[in-house]
Amino acid sequence: HAKGRGRGISCFFDPALRDSVERRQATGDALRTALAADEIDIALQPQVSLDHRGHVGFEALARWTVNGRQVPPGDFIPVAEDSGLIVPLGFRVLEKSMQTARRLRDLGYDPGPIAVNVAAAQLKQGGFTESVLALLQKFRLDASALEIELTENVLLDRSSDRISEALCELHAAGVAITLDDFGTGYASLSHLKRYPVSRLKIDQAFVREIQSDMCDAVIARTIISLAHNLKMTVVAEGVETEQQFRFLQAHGCDYAQGFLMSRPIERFRVEDYFRGKARIDENLTK
Ligand code: C2E
Ligand code: MG
Ligand code: MG
Ligand code: MG
Repeated sequence: HAKGRGRGISCFFDPALRDSVERRQATGDALRTALAADEIDIALQPQVSLDHRGHVGFEALARWTVNGRQVPPGDFIPVAEDSGLIVPLGFRVLEKSMQTARRLRDLGYDPGPIAVNVAAAQLKQGGFTESVLALLQKFRLDASALEIELTENVLLDRSSDRISEALCELHAAGVAITLDDFGTGYASLSHLKRYPVSRLKIDQAFVREIQSDMCDAVIARTIISLAHNLKMTVVAEGVETEQQFRFLQAHGCDYAQGFLMSRPIERFRVEDYFRGKARIDENLTK
């Protein structure tokens, strides 16, 4: 068995096998073992208000470390989606997010809503809403402690009726829904009418050259007005420079997330972020 597992791991790290069937198989096997050993963790990336720069919430991002190296989510999330492992993985991310919200509150900090990425397979599974509500209850949290992030492609899934039902239940329970990577998928604008979406997230692809590429600038501004005209809020991801921040601010975007404010923070380091902020806020009032 040990030999088999060793072979899997080396295949999983062999760059020559990138994207091969063998490699995906090895990644899936290693991921299954990691899930059973509770080795999937989360990092939290802050979101700030564009008008006062204050903290408003977080996005939870799955993290997997193998032999001291982080496996990029872009390598294991697609494998998890194809193998069905995204269902237990996504649940772990939800659970750790709500557990962290509880811990931060007990320490006297207000984390704001934690946005969790949710895949189609999770919403299609019967009982998703119930499991989310049970988690909120377990950690004594209000529905506003959680936000669900979906990519547009989730709305195009074959089982869109079941997905729509789950989203309406979550919305009715008070859980806000954000459309992630907005403008990069294949959904049509009519989906915004059909699903209870309350926030759009401008993809980092449009933010990167917002200063120099006229087309990206127009797309970003159009997403901001679309959101506001539909009574939604809008958050930009991948904000890395002060210039991008100022542009988004000047064009009325509500929130920003990106390396300029903070990289994703390991779950157990989040209190340091709040402590550091308290020091900054104290210095500002002096
Ligand atoms: P996403 O949901 O669009 O998450 C944003 C990604 O951008 C994260 O990558 C984050 O680390 C990265 N990022 C944040 N700020 C900046 C910045 O200023 N510049 C740049 N260049 N990048 C920035 P990450 O953590 O590698 O995650 C990649 C994708 O994997 C996520 O994209 C999401 O689609 C997926 N993912 C991550 N965790 C989960 C999960 O728990 N469940 C599901 N279903 N998908 C997840
Ligand atoms: Mg996201
Ligand atoms: Mg995104
Ligand atoms: Mg993205």
